Order: sequence, then C-alpha cells, then structure tokens
Amino acid sequence: MNRQLAENLKKAQTHLRRFRDNITAHHINGETCPGVSGATFDNLTPTDNTSLGRVTAGAAEDVERACQAAQAAFPVWSGVSGKERRNILHRFADRVEQRAEEIALVESMDCGQPIRFMRAAAARGAENFRFFADQAPEAGNGLSLHQAQHLNYTKRTPIGPVAVITPWNTPFMLATWKIAPALAAGCTVVHKPAEFSPLSAMILAEISQEAGLPDGVWNTVNGLGESAGKPLTEHPAIKAIGFVGETVTGSHIMRQAAATLKRIHVELGGKNPVIVFADADFERALDAVVFMIYSLNGQRCTSSSRLLVQDSIADKFLAALAQRVNTITVGHPLDPATELGPLIHPSHLEKVLSYMDAARAERATIVAGGTLVEELGPGNYFRPTLFSDATNRMKIAREEIFGPVLTAIRFNDEAEAVALANDTSYGLAGYVWTADSGRGIRMAEALEAGMVWVNSENNRNLPSPFGGMKHSGIGRDGGDYSFDFYMETKNICIAHGTHKIPVLGR
Ligand code: NAD
Repeated sequence: MNRQLAENLKKAQTHLRRFRDNITAHHINGETCPGVSGATFDNLTPTDNTSLGRVTAGAAEDVERACQAAQAAFPVWSGVSGKERRNILHRFADRVEQRAEEIALVESMDCGQPIRFMRAAAARGAENFRFFADQAPEAGNGLSLHQAQHLNYTKRTPIGPVAVITPWNTPFMLATWKIAPALAAGCTVVHKPAEFSPLSAMILAEISQEAGLPDGVWNTVNGLGESAGKPLTEHPAIKAIGFVGETVTGSHIMRQAAATLKRIHVELGGKNPVIVFADADFERALDAVVFMIYSLNGQRCTSSSRLLVQDSIADKFLAALAQRVNTITVGHPLDPATELGPLIHPSHLEKVLSYMDAARAERATIVAGGTLVEELGPGNYFRPTLFSDATNRMKIAREEIFGPVLTAIRFNDEAEAVALANDTSYGLAGYVWTADSGRGIRMAEALEAGMVWVNSENNRNLPSPFGGMKHSGIGRDGGDYSFDFYMETKNICIAHGTHKIPVLGR
C-alpha cells in the first residue's frame, strides 16, 4: 500500500467511525431521529464489501413526520426574504468547502468513486449552492406584458414542500444540484438518498443546521425505494418531485405521483453516442472518448457508452483506444493514482458482468477488459472494457450498462451516423467530434438528445438546461429552468378601466 493511500485510509476511518458506531438515522425537523419501526439495513463499502454501518430503513410513518415538518416550515422559509435566503445558502456553501476533505473521503468509501473525482465533486456541490443562492433575490421576478387596455404581469412563488430522490452514483453532487435551487426558490425539502450510498446525505443534513436553515426546511429520510421513496412520492403535502435515477423507476414515480397530481421532473438513464468523424482531432477525440466512459467508474448518466467511429479511421482509432483502456489504473478509490474504482455493489457488478455474456452470445469482440481485477481483493473491481465488432441492434448497444464499458460501432457517412445515434430509446446526451464546423452544427441539430457537445467532453455550465429527451427524462435543471420547476407562475391582469365589459341579462 502506498503512503498516500495509507494516509487517506487513516483519515477516512476517522470520519467513518461515527457511522460504524451509530445507526445512521433520519434528519427531521432539525433533529437526528431514529425510524419509528426500528428497522435498519447494512451499508457496504464497494472497496471490500464490508459494512460501513447500519442505516435506518425508513417507512411511511417516518415519511409522514418529514412531510409534516416540511409543510410546517414552508410558510417560514418562503417568507424569508430572497436576500436572507442567499446569505444562508452561501453559509451552507462555506461549510461544504470547510468540510470538503471529509465529504470527499466519506463519499469515495461509500460509493467507490476515485478520490481524484470526489474532491472536485465536493467543490462542485458548494458551487451549486453559490450559483442558486445568488439568484434567490430575483427568483420571484416575472414578466410585464402589455395590452391596449390591460396590463399583465407575472410573478413566481415557491410551489411548496418538494421531494428530492437521488441515485447512488455521485450522491453528494447530485443532491446539491437538485436541492440548492429548491431552497433558493423558497421551497422546503424532503430528501430520500439512495440506499447504496447514504452517508454524504447525512453530512449535508448536518450542514443545513450549521448554516442556520430553520428547522423543517431540510429533512432527510433514509431507506429503500419501495418503503421510503414510494410513500414520499404519494404524500399529499409534497407538491413536486425532483427525481434522478433509472428510467423504469421514473415511470413508477410518475404513476405514484399521479393520484396527488404532483409536478414531476425525472432525470433518467442514457445510452449516449460519441461520434468521431475521420477529420476529428485524433488525440483530443481519443482523450474525450476515454474520459467520458471510464471516469466516475462509468457510473455516469452522461457517459458516452456508444462510440460511433467513421470507417476510414476505425482500425487506427480502436487500436489506440484499446491501448489506453488497458493502461487505465484500476485501484482503491482513496489512492490518488486510481482512475477507476470499484463498482457500487456486488449486485451491480453482476449486472455489468452479464453484459460480457451478452457480448459473446451476440458475437461482438471483447477487445479489452471484461474481467474482474481479482488481485485487488474482495471489492467490486472490474477492468475497463471495450467491445468492438458490434452493431447497434445488439443488447450491448441498446441497454444502459452503467459501468466502465464502451461499445464501438462503425459508420460510413454523416447520414448513417445520425441514424445510428438516434436509433435508441434514450436521448440524454450526444458528443460529436469533427473539424468541419458546418457538420458539427448539422449533427448537433439532428441528434435526438437534450444536450449535445461538439468537440468537447461534458462541460458544465450552470445556467444551461440539463436534462434528456425520450426515455432519458422529462424536464430540465439549471439556471432559470430549475426555478420554473420549483415555482408556480402567476399571471396578474389589471384593467386600465376603459375596456368594454360584455353585458348579460340587463
Ligand atoms: P434507481 O432508479 O434504482 O434509484 C434512484 C432512487 O430512487 C433511489 O433513491 C431509490 O431508493 C429510489 N426509488 C427506487 N424505487 C422507488 C419508488 N418506487 N418510488 C420512489 N423512489 C424509488 O437508480 P440508481 O440505480 O440509484 O441510479 C442509477 C440510474 O440513475 C442510472 O439509470 C443513471 O443513468 C441514472 N442517473 C441519471 C442522471 C441524469 O441526470 N439523467 C444522473 C445520474 C444518474
């Protein structure tokens, strides 16, 4: 074990001790509290599948308490001025920055993401809060719309208590991305973190107290999707649901939320194409292709999991790619040298492994990887994997694997590239690599995806809309799009007093 890994492990153990020694509870109405039923579940670290401690398995009674707290706090928080909300949310970001190392270490051990990426995720979480905090004072502002004899103006008001339900892949970053705008808008929140990686959500709940959020504004209920998530989506106090997770869960959420007519925003799966034309900058395209599927353990919604490469450069590009894939450093997530950590859970590892059989059955070639890294011990370590000789009809090209697994498919011309890229039920992201700017624009316009990057990997811009088409989601986050979701828009129409009113019964 190298010195830096040993040091990080030692520091992580200090931060993890309290989760081992105490049951991770809920955070409701400003207090840490156990679940009503007393039921708990085990939280495993992907590094060796040992327990990081027990976590409260919330149920409908706990959700009820959290929703009541969020409802009671709503008039308080929505009544706080935008300026004051901004100050509190900046204090929140300050505390995230102060606790950044702890967050990164705990997150890496809890979800297996390499520390090199989790340090950035902690900083990005703070940035999310600062960005939306600064917009809080103006979030209610609307439009002024004039007619000959009437004046219309619009204003926005927070919709009410909202549910935020997040997945396990980058739990800290995603929770801040969803919750920061809700709070900036004046909503109160009940957060249900993923059961596979719940720890950073508890740190966030603590920070909500440290930052001075009034009790009940931020509530966290731990537990499984069916027993804690479902009652939350059905609770009448909750007015909107911000959900990030699998496509099939998204459709459950829509069904569950229908009876109480909630507003929903679902950010779901993807099978995103990266299209490399022969004229692309070879090295930059190669770097981006590798980064966008093998960073964050491939457990990333915007990962480019389908490589569409033009025939004339395919052999050369795939050879260079295979060489790079074979030299990616797989290792313990707390080792700063690690580029690829362990997958979240043995059940997910099994799912990813099942695609190796699917590839063989359909006669694709496993050019690199495809096996466990047994020398790293009992964690969920899997080699970065590249499939070639694939077609877009194969299972490995159609289903979201959500691991470090890339399926390469060849194409001939622009028309074929568009057809292949769009021949999927998903529509989250697309990436195009070409030196021809006209073609870059034509491709970007033709791709059925909520987000397209031309000659770039996934670059983040907080005011831009983030979200997917087709089975990748409904709704957009980012900038004002987030406020539109978490707020009601009201139109107020005032007469000049001069227009003719229709007369009946006189
Ligand atoms: P998941 O759908 O299994 O779980 C997500 C959350 O929903 C968890 O907190 C879970 O407990 C909860 N849940 C499950 N069933 C529920 C129900 N019936 N009612 C209410 N809540 C329920 O997803 P996951 O496996 O945790 O995450 C991986 C998925 O997330 C991938 O498909 C990935 O593409 C997607 N994802 C999408 C984005 C995006 O922005 N589009 C970002 C990150 C991850």
